Amino acid sequence: MSKVTEQFNWRVVCEPKQLFNIGEASEREANDLADDIRKHIPDAAHIRVLCDAEDRCSHCWVTWSADSHGQPSCCTAAQLEWAREDAARSEVPA
Ligand SMILES: [Zn+2]
Repeated sequence: MSKVTEQFNWRVVCEPKQLFNIGEASEREANDLADDIRKHIPDAAHIRVLCDAEDRCSHCWVTWSADSHGQPSCCTAAQLEWAREDAARSEVPA
């Protein structure tokens, strides 16, 4: 597993936006707050839990990049893992 998707900047977006501003939260905190808002403010129909996401290397944690064959370019550990997986894929009979 070389490529992992990091999810960060979890937030609850409420409209009208002036109602709430919770700042930084975990995924669970954001979902719990969104549930609480829905329970107590039935009219707040426009509530969404959002986060940003970025693919990263599980070995060196830099932003994921790979060539057209899928071979990572960030570090030797990721390249060796990719080479092992690529060899295993080649051994599977068609
Ligand atoms: Zn890497």
